[in-house]
Formats: sequence, structure tokens, C-alpha cells
Amino acid sequence: MRSTSFPYLALYAPMLVGLLLTGCIGNGLPAPISDARTRPTALLFGMYVTPDGEHNPIDPPERFTGYHAGLDYEIRESELRTDVPVYAICDGSVLYSGFAEGYGGLLVQRCMIENEEVTVLYGHLAQEDMMPEGETPKAGEQLGILAAHRTLWSGWNRKHLHLGIHRGADTDMRGYVESAEELEAFVNPASVLPRSATGRPVSTHRVVGPTTRDEAIPEERFDTSSTSSVSS
Ligand SMILES: [Zn+2]
Repeated sequence: MRSTSFPYLALYAPMLVGLLLTGCIGNGLPAPISDARTRPTALLFGMYVTPDGEHNPIDPPERFTGYHAGLDYEIRESELRTDVPVYAICDGSVLYSGFAEGYGGLLVQRCMIENEEVTVLYGHLAQEDMMPEGETPKAGEQLGILAAHRTLWSGWNRKHLHLGIHRGADTDMRGYVESAEELEAFVNPASVLPRSATGRPVSTHRVVGPTTRDEAIPEERFDTSSTSSVSS
């Protein structure tokens, strides 16, 4: 039997190589945040949530009601006081970089993803270090850092990243929509990012850090100049 294994291997080897290549380059978007493979994700795309804890995977819930039009990446307790960089998932120009209601800091980038024109929303970024409008970052380039927990620039939310992808050239800054039909204007990030970049889904996420804005924790900045690719 052993003698027959070689021809079979010869037959299948090219297919295996093809599969491996597809896995590597067929869906090569980089993650928008470090450690994406193991980072908890509880508030997934399309979930309907309310500020009532019964209908929200975030504990305690944020104040929003609606269908979540993006994917939230949570932080670890050790990241409450450290800079957490956010990276572009695609090549494309920065259309908006600044304050937006509900987010605090928001950066919107125009991209082509799977031959579709989209705008990508990176929500809850710190004011400092946010890449300005008009820049054209490459995929993987740093766009900014997460805003500190329960501050104006996190939208008084927990420290986390909201990643939204809206279809078409028009900017739609909504993080939640009112109907399932409206969700169709958005792309599920998990459907275009490689599995390793979409986080580790969990059914609930207990927020690390204080729960009220009165207990906001300022970030202790440290030198990121060696890793930052933001240029002025
Ligand atoms: Zn979100």
C-alpha cells in the first residue's frame, strides 16, 4: 500500500499548495488592532442590543439601542492605561478624522474591499495621534490609538474599537441602525477579514475598568515613536 501513496501525494500536492496560498493571500486584510486572534469580541455585527442588560453582551451595557453595524474589539485589563494602536485594514484616503457624536474620536477611510467601494469607520480613537484627513495610509499602517476609558474621546464609552464598513462612496457614521434592512448598507467585517483578524467571539464581556465617567482613567502615555507610522 505504501507504494501507492506517492502518486496520490503527487496528485494532491498542487491542490494543497493552492489551498495554502488561498488561505494566505486570498484574504489578506490585516487586523485593525493587535492580538486580534485572541482579543475578545462580544458585540458582533448585526446584533440587536438595548441599554437593558438582558439584551446586551456588554456588561454593563452602553447606552445604545439598535442593530450593531460593526464589530467591537475589547481590551484586556492590562491595556486600560497603555496605548492600544489602531491600524488601517486597507489602502485608502482618510475622509474624516475628528469628533463624532456617539464615538468621540472617529476616523473614516475610503477603500476598495473585494472590488467594492466602501468607507471604513474606526471608532473611539484618541484625539492625539489620529491621522489627519487627506492622508492615504496603506493597509497595516497605524491610524491612531484607542481613546482612554470613559472619556470624551471614547464617547464616554468603555475603551474599545468599533470597526464599521459601509458600502459605497458615501459616509455613514452610524454605529447602530434601526432595522435589519438598514444593516444591508454595511458589510460584516468578519466576512471580509481573515479569521485571524476578527477576534475571539465570547457570549458576554465584562467591562474592565470603572463603569462611570467620574472614574475615568487617563492614559499614561509612553513612547510609541518606534512603532508609529503616522507622519505629519
Ligand atoms: Zn460598536
